[in-house]
Amino acid sequence: MAKGYLIDMDGVIYRGSTMIPGAIEFIKQLQRLGTPFLFLTNNSERSPKDLVAKFGHYGLKVSPKNFYTAAHCTADFLVRQQPTSSAFVIGEGGLIVALQEAGIAFDSIKPDFVVVGEGRLFNFEIVEKAMRLLANGSRLVATNPDTWCPTDAGPRPGTGALAALLESATGKRAYCLGKPNPFMFVMARKRLGLRTNETAMIGDTMETDIRGAAELGIPAYLVLTGSTKRETVAEFPYQPTGILNSIADLLDMEESVLAHADATA
Ligand SMILES: [Mg+2]
Repeated sequence: MAKGYLIDMDGVIYRGSTMIPGAIEFIKQLQRLGTPFLFLTNNSERSPKDLVAKFGHYGLKVSPKNFYTAAHCTADFLVRQQPTSSAFVIGEGGLIVALQEAGIAFDSIKPDFVVVGEGRLFNFEIVEKAMRLLANGSRLVATNPDTWCPTDAGPRPGTGALAALLESATGKRAYCLGKPNPFMFVMARKRLGLRTNETAMIGDTMETDIRGAAELGIPAYLVLTGSTKRETVAEFPYQPTGILNSIADLLDMEESVLAHADATA
């Protein structure tokens, strides 16, 4: 088994507002064993503190340090491109906090970047403003490429779709951070303090979770509790290391490794 895990949230830990059976037990087991893990999400809407509160309602105690979101990934990328950069941001609290913590200034006059993230703050005025900034030389960055997101009430447009509107209006192409961009996986692995061959990804989406892991060369476990059906997996050029019915299957695997370690101690 891996020495540490990168774990997608939606479709792996919960679906909408319902926890997936075995998910809490798996995380608690990692905590008991001292196995490092990071929740790796393309959703830039919430900050780690918000996510800690959300998980707390489900009976799962985790630390803000257990999260690496597409907002962190975007902030890490921008400061590496340009240490003292400024941005015009279309997004919510999670993105604002991550960019602010990274020292990126908010500028609505002549920003280096226009950053688009997840959220509900999109309206014509803000799109018009962003379009003019892009026409004036700002560079277009999206926190993630997802064109839609699942919710309890049905699908809603994702960051990729919002960025596509600006791409169409300006003729500029957005650079997308988040999964499957290998930058996200490399930065997260470094945060875990592990090598590539010690890290594994657990996710439910072939195009983001499994593709990014394959590009970085780390093992990837696909769980069938989210967006992917078993019969569609073979269509993809990149394949998961293992296919699991749910994250609960991994619990059994970790348990057997532990039992083996106890028996041979
Ligand atoms: Mg997912």
